[in-house]
Amino acid sequence: MEDISSYAEELYEVTDECPVCRNRTLSIRGVVYNVPYFGRVLLETMNCSTCGFRYMNITYLDSKGPVRLTYRVTDRVDVERTWIIRSAEARLYSPDLGFTLAPGSAGEALITPLEGLMYRVIYYAEAMRGLEGEAEERRLRFIREATEALNGLRGFTLVIEDPTGNSIIRPPPGREDRLKEERLEVTQDG
Ligand SMILES: [Zn+2]
Repeated sequence: MEDISSYAEELYEVTDECPVCRNRTLSIRGVVYNVPYFGRVLLETMNCSTCGFRYMNITYLDSKGPVRLTYRVTDRVDVERTWIIRSAEARLYSPDLGFTLAPGSAGEALITPLEGLMYRVIYYAEAMRGLEGEAEERRLRFIREATEALNGLRGFTLVIEDPTGNSIIRPPPGREDRLKEERLEVTQDG
């Protein structure tokens, strides 16, 4: 698997006061990833060695504004070699496989190969115990189908909607033109 960190360049590393415990043990680190075909992404992480406070934020420096990205995953190559950069403000979902990562707390930004994302959603479903009847049947079916998708045996559609434009799907080399990119209108209710 390709290692995206080879495109990284550290910008700064400073120590500051922690917003939670007020000790001057907050390490703030900014790294710019120059991702081929897509542009530059600033990843800022904060980490307090005293209280364990953590925060991660992503800014897509070449963002063109609110965007919906759609990619049809067809095989194991897509699973292994597609990279996902998802900002905390983005909704990431698959309409046909049936999972959603809703926009949420700031800590949910992530940079991962699609494979890592699939392991994550399967892990969530496996941890969701105690369901009964139809809900339990749906859960078990999802785990089965998501595992097939992880192994490249089932195609599915991956969508990211990001009002900030700070998310990226980077398909495997040679498959870039299969990525559908739509500009979104900015709405009042977000
Ligand atoms: Zn702290």
